[in-house]
Amino acid sequence: MGNRYLPKGMRPSTLDERREFYKSEFNLNGVKRWFSGWCGKTVFAVIIGRHTGIYPPEYEEEASTTILIENYADLEDVREWILEFLPESVYYDRNVYDEQGHAIGQEMAFDLDPENLTCPIHGSLEDKMRRHEGLSFCEIELEMVKDETIGLYEELSKRFSNLRIVYSGRGFHIHVLDEDVFGWSPEERAEVAREVKSKGFMIDEWVTSGGMRLIRLPYSLHGMVSRIVTPINISEIGDFNPIYDERCIPRFLKT
Ligand SMILES: [Zn+2]
Repeated sequence: MGNRYLPKGMRPSTLDERREFYKSEFNLNGVKRWFSGWCGKTVFAVIIGRHTGIYPPEYEEEASTTILIENYADLEDVREWILEFLPESVYYDRNVYDEQGHAIGQEMAFDLDPENLTCPIHGSLEDKMRRHEGLSFCEIELEMVKDETIGLYEELSKRFSNLRIVYSGRGFHIHVLDEDVFGWSPEERAEVAREVKSKGFMIDEWVTSGGMRLIRLPYSLHGMVSRIVTPINISEIGDFNPIYDERCIPRFLKT
Protein backbone atom coordinates (compact mmCIF):
# COMPACT_ATOMS: atom_id res chain seq x y z
CA MET A 1 0.00 0.00 0.00
CA GLY A 2 2.99 2.30 0.46
CA ASN A 3 2.71 5.63 2.20
CA ARG A 4 -0.48 7.57 2.06
CA TYR A 5 -1.52 11.08 2.92
CA LEU A 6 -5.12 12.23 2.74
CA PRO A 7 -6.99 15.45 3.57
CA LYS A 8 -7.98 16.02 7.19
CA GLY A 9 -10.62 13.58 8.47
CA MET A 10 -10.40 11.24 5.51
CA ARG A 11 -9.37 7.65 6.22
CA PRO A 12 -10.31 4.09 5.21
CA SER A 13 -13.60 2.75 6.59
CA THR A 14 -13.67 -0.38 8.73
CA LEU A 15 -15.87 -3.36 7.82
CA ASP A 16 -18.30 -2.45 10.61
CA GLU A 17 -18.57 1.07 9.24
CA ARG A 18 -19.21 -0.18 5.70
CA ARG A 19 -21.92 -2.48 7.08
CA GLU A 20 -23.54 0.29 9.10
CA PHE A 21 -23.49 2.63 6.11
CA TYR A 22 -25.09 0.22 3.61
CA LYS A 23 -27.60 -1.01 6.17
CA SER A 24 -28.96 2.29 7.39
CA GLU A 25 -27.67 5.19 5.33
CA PHE A 26 -27.27 4.15 1.68
CA ASN A 27 -29.67 6.33 -0.34
CA LEU A 28 -31.38 3.79 -2.61
CA ASN A 29 -33.95 6.37 -3.75
CA GLY A 30 -31.08 8.53 -4.90
CA VAL A 31 -29.65 5.58 -6.85
CA LYS A 32 -33.08 4.94 -8.37
CA ARG A 33 -33.36 8.59 -9.43
CA TRP A 34 -29.87 8.48 -10.91
CA PHE A 35 -30.90 5.69 -13.30
CA SER A 36 -34.42 6.97 -14.02
CA GLY A 37 -33.54 7.88 -17.62
CA TRP A 38 -31.80 4.58 -18.38
CA CYS A 39 -33.24 1.84 -20.53
CA GLY A 40 -32.36 -1.77 -19.86
CA LYS A 41 -30.77 -3.25 -16.79
CA THR A 42 -27.77 -1.79 -15.03
CA VAL A 43 -24.81 -4.01 -14.14
CA PHE A 44 -23.20 -3.18 -10.79
CA ALA A 45 -19.74 -4.14 -9.56
CA VAL A 46 -17.75 -4.14 -6.34
CA ILE A 47 -14.12 -4.30 -5.32
CA ILE A 48 -13.83 -5.62 -1.80
CA GLY A 49 -10.37 -4.62 -0.63
CA ARG A 50 -7.85 -3.92 -3.40
CA HIS A 51 -6.55 -0.57 -2.17
CA THR A 52 -7.41 -0.66 1.52
CA GLY A 53 -6.43 -4.27 2.27
CA ILE A 54 -9.59 -4.35 4.40
CA TYR A 55 -11.95 -7.24 3.54
CA PRO A 56 -14.02 -9.95 5.22
CA PRO A 57 -11.66 -12.93 5.82
CA GLU A 58 -13.88 -15.30 3.82
CA TYR A 59 -13.27 -13.15 0.72
CA GLU A 60 -9.49 -12.97 0.95
CA GLU A 61 -9.03 -14.62 -2.45
CA GLU A 62 -11.45 -12.24 -4.17
CA ALA A 63 -10.37 -9.12 -2.30
CA SER A 64 -8.66 -7.49 -5.29
CA THR A 65 -10.89 -8.69 -8.09
CA THR A 66 -13.83 -6.90 -9.66
CA ILE A 67 -17.03 -8.78 -8.83
CA LEU A 68 -20.03 -8.12 -11.07
CA ILE A 69 -23.55 -7.96 -9.67
CA GLU A 70 -25.75 -8.83 -12.63
CA ASN A 71 -28.40 -11.10 -11.18
CA TYR A 72 -30.66 -9.14 -8.92
CA ALA A 73 -34.37 -8.50 -8.66
CA ASP A 74 -34.30 -4.88 -7.52
CA LEU A 75 -32.06 -2.32 -5.83
CA GLU A 76 -32.88 -3.74 -2.41
CA ASP A 77 -31.35 -6.96 -3.71
CA VAL A 78 -28.24 -5.05 -4.81
CA ARG A 79 -27.96 -3.67 -1.29
CA GLU A 80 -28.07 -7.25 0.04
CA TRP A 81 -25.15 -8.21 -2.22
CA ILE A 82 -23.19 -5.19 -1.06
CA LEU A 83 -23.85 -6.15 2.56
CA GLU A 84 -22.56 -9.63 1.76
CA PHE A 85 -19.26 -8.39 0.29
CA LEU A 86 -18.78 -5.21 2.39
CA PRO A 87 -16.69 -3.70 -0.42
CA GLU A 88 -14.40 -0.69 -0.33
CA SER A 89 -15.90 0.46 -3.66
CA VAL A 90 -19.15 0.07 -5.61
CA TYR A 91 -19.40 0.82 -9.32
CA TYR A 92 -21.82 0.54 -12.20
CA ASP A 93 -21.20 -0.40 -15.80
CA ARG A 94 -21.81 2.55 -18.14
CA ASN A 95 -22.67 0.21 -20.99
CA VAL A 96 -26.31 -0.08 -21.98
CA TYR A 97 -27.25 -3.67 -22.88
CA ASP A 98 -30.09 -5.14 -24.91
CA GLU A 99 -32.15 -8.16 -23.86
CA GLN A 100 -29.49 -10.57 -25.11
CA GLY A 101 -26.79 -8.82 -23.14
CA HIS A 102 -25.11 -7.11 -26.10
CA ALA A 103 -23.77 -3.63 -25.47
CA ILE A 104 -25.81 -1.18 -27.54
CA GLY A 105 -24.46 2.05 -26.11
CA GLN A 106 -22.54 3.73 -23.33
CA GLU A 107 -22.87 6.69 -21.05
CA MET A 108 -19.94 9.07 -21.57
CA ALA A 109 -18.07 10.30 -18.52
CA PHE A 110 -15.00 12.32 -17.60
CA ASP A 111 -12.85 11.39 -14.62
CA LEU A 112 -10.76 14.01 -12.83
CA ASP A 113 -8.53 12.78 -10.02
CA PRO A 114 -6.48 15.00 -7.68
CA GLU A 115 -3.34 12.85 -7.82
CA ASN A 116 -2.93 13.60 -11.54
CA LEU A 117 -2.39 17.28 -10.84
CA THR A 118 1.00 18.69 -10.00
CA CYS A 119 0.93 19.90 -6.41
CA PRO A 120 3.23 22.71 -5.18
CA ILE A 121 4.04 20.54 -2.14
CA HIS A 122 3.82 16.93 -3.35
CA GLY A 123 4.89 17.38 -6.98
CA SER A 124 3.72 15.53 -10.08
CA LEU A 125 2.11 12.10 -10.32
CA GLU A 126 5.54 10.69 -11.21
CA ASP A 127 7.03 12.20 -8.04
CA LYS A 128 4.20 10.67 -6.01
CA MET A 129 4.54 7.26 -7.69
CA ARG A 130 8.25 7.24 -6.96
CA ARG A 131 7.44 7.70 -3.28
CA HIS A 132 4.65 5.07 -3.51
CA GLU A 133 2.04 7.74 -2.88
CA GLY A 134 0.11 7.21 -6.12
CA LEU A 135 -3.33 7.25 -4.51
CA SER A 136 -2.58 10.02 -2.04
CA PHE A 137 -3.86 13.57 -2.34
CA CYS A 138 -3.97 16.71 -0.23
CA GLU A 139 -6.29 19.67 0.32
CA ILE A 140 -4.46 21.81 -2.25
CA GLU A 141 -4.90 19.10 -4.88
CA LEU A 142 -8.57 18.86 -3.91
CA GLU A 143 -9.06 22.59 -4.58
CA MET A 144 -7.11 22.31 -7.83
CA VAL A 145 -9.20 19.40 -9.10
CA LYS A 146 -12.36 21.34 -8.23
CA ASP A 147 -11.24 24.30 -10.37
CA GLU A 148 -10.35 21.88 -13.14
CA THR A 149 -13.84 20.34 -12.94
CA ILE A 150 -15.55 23.76 -13.15
CA GLY A 151 -13.42 24.62 -16.19
CA LEU A 152 -14.16 21.33 -17.91
CA TYR A 153 -17.88 21.65 -17.15
CA GLU A 154 -17.91 25.06 -18.84
CA GLU A 155 -16.02 23.67 -21.83
CA LEU A 156 -18.35 20.66 -22.18
CA SER A 157 -21.44 22.88 -21.80
CA LYS A 158 -20.66 24.40 -25.20
CA ARG A 159 -21.25 21.03 -26.73
CA PHE A 160 -23.52 18.97 -24.48
CA SER A 161 -26.76 19.97 -22.79
CA ASN A 162 -27.26 17.40 -20.04
CA LEU A 163 -24.26 17.18 -17.72
CA ARG A 164 -24.05 15.99 -14.13
CA ILE A 165 -21.18 16.41 -11.71
CA VAL A 166 -20.45 13.83 -9.01
CA TYR A 167 -17.95 14.13 -6.19
CA SER A 168 -16.24 10.74 -6.43
CA GLY A 169 -14.60 10.61 -2.99
CA ARG A 170 -11.24 11.78 -4.32
CA GLY A 171 -11.97 13.95 -7.34
CA PHE A 172 -14.96 14.52 -9.59
CA HIS A 173 -16.79 12.85 -12.44
CA ILE A 174 -18.73 14.65 -15.14
CA HIS A 175 -21.41 12.45 -16.70
CA VAL A 176 -22.88 13.26 -20.13
CA LEU A 177 -26.57 12.33 -20.24
CA ASP A 178 -27.35 13.66 -23.72
CA GLU A 179 -29.36 10.92 -25.36
CA ASP A 180 -27.56 10.86 -28.73
CA VAL A 181 -24.15 10.47 -27.05
CA PHE A 182 -25.13 7.04 -25.70
CA GLY A 183 -24.96 5.78 -29.29
CA TRP A 184 -21.53 7.18 -30.11
CA SER A 185 -18.78 4.89 -31.38
CA PRO A 186 -15.55 4.28 -29.39
CA GLU A 187 -13.70 6.40 -32.01
CA GLU A 188 -16.01 9.38 -31.46
CA ARG A 189 -15.48 9.09 -27.70
CA ALA A 190 -11.72 8.83 -28.05
CA GLU A 191 -11.78 11.91 -30.28
CA VAL A 192 -13.56 13.96 -27.58
CA ALA A 193 -11.09 12.70 -24.97
CA ARG A 194 -8.16 13.79 -27.16
CA GLU A 195 -9.74 17.18 -27.80
CA VAL A 196 -10.34 17.83 -24.12
CA LYS A 197 -6.76 16.79 -23.28
CA SER A 198 -5.33 19.01 -25.99
CA LYS A 199 -7.09 21.95 -24.31
CA GLY A 200 -5.04 21.22 -21.20
CA PHE A 201 -7.53 19.29 -19.07
CA MET A 202 -6.20 16.35 -17.07
CA ILE A 203 -8.69 13.55 -17.51
CA ASP A 204 -8.45 9.82 -17.51
CA GLU A 205 -8.78 9.12 -21.27
CA TRP A 206 -9.42 5.45 -20.59
CA VAL A 207 -12.71 6.37 -18.88
CA THR A 208 -13.92 8.82 -21.54
CA SER A 209 -13.05 6.61 -24.50
CA GLY A 210 -14.87 3.72 -22.84
CA GLY A 211 -12.00 1.26 -22.28
CA MET A 212 -12.78 1.50 -18.57
CA ARG A 213 -16.54 1.04 -18.37
CA LEU A 214 -17.02 1.03 -14.64
CA ILE A 215 -17.64 4.22 -12.71
CA ARG A 216 -18.27 4.82 -9.05
CA LEU A 217 -21.92 4.51 -8.07
CA PRO A 218 -23.46 7.79 -6.81
CA TYR A 219 -24.55 7.55 -3.13
CA SER A 220 -22.16 4.64 -2.45
CA LEU A 221 -19.37 4.86 0.10
CA HIS A 222 -15.79 5.47 -1.03
CA GLY A 223 -14.13 3.14 1.46
CA MET A 224 -10.63 4.55 1.09
CA VAL A 225 -11.55 8.03 2.29
CA SER A 226 -14.88 7.42 4.10
CA ARG A 227 -16.87 9.82 1.96
CA ILE A 228 -20.22 9.39 0.22
CA VAL A 229 -20.12 9.67 -3.58
CA THR A 230 -22.37 12.71 -4.03
CA PRO A 231 -23.94 14.48 -7.04
CA ILE A 232 -23.16 18.20 -6.81
CA ASN A 233 -24.94 20.96 -8.66
CA ILE A 234 -22.71 23.22 -10.74
CA SER A 235 -24.07 26.24 -8.83
CA GLU A 236 -22.89 24.70 -5.53
CA ILE A 237 -19.52 23.36 -6.49
CA GLY A 238 -17.62 26.59 -5.88
CA ASP A 239 -18.30 26.37 -2.14
CA PHE A 240 -18.19 22.59 -1.97
CA ASN A 241 -15.58 21.17 0.37
CA PRO A 242 -15.75 17.40 0.97
CA ILE A 243 -13.70 17.76 4.15
CA TYR A 244 -16.63 19.49 5.87
CA ASP A 245 -19.71 19.04 3.66
CA GLU A 246 -22.45 17.24 5.61
CA ARG A 247 -23.87 15.62 2.48
CA CYS A 248 -20.81 13.51 1.82
CA ILE A 249 -19.78 12.69 5.40
CA PRO A 250 -21.16 9.32 6.57
CA ARG A 251 -22.90 9.14 9.94
CA PHE A 252 -20.17 7.01 11.47
CA LEU A 253 -17.82 9.98 11.22
CA LYS A 254 -20.34 12.42 12.67
CA THR A 255 -20.75 10.78 16.08
ZN1 LIG B 1 -0.36 17.93 -2.49
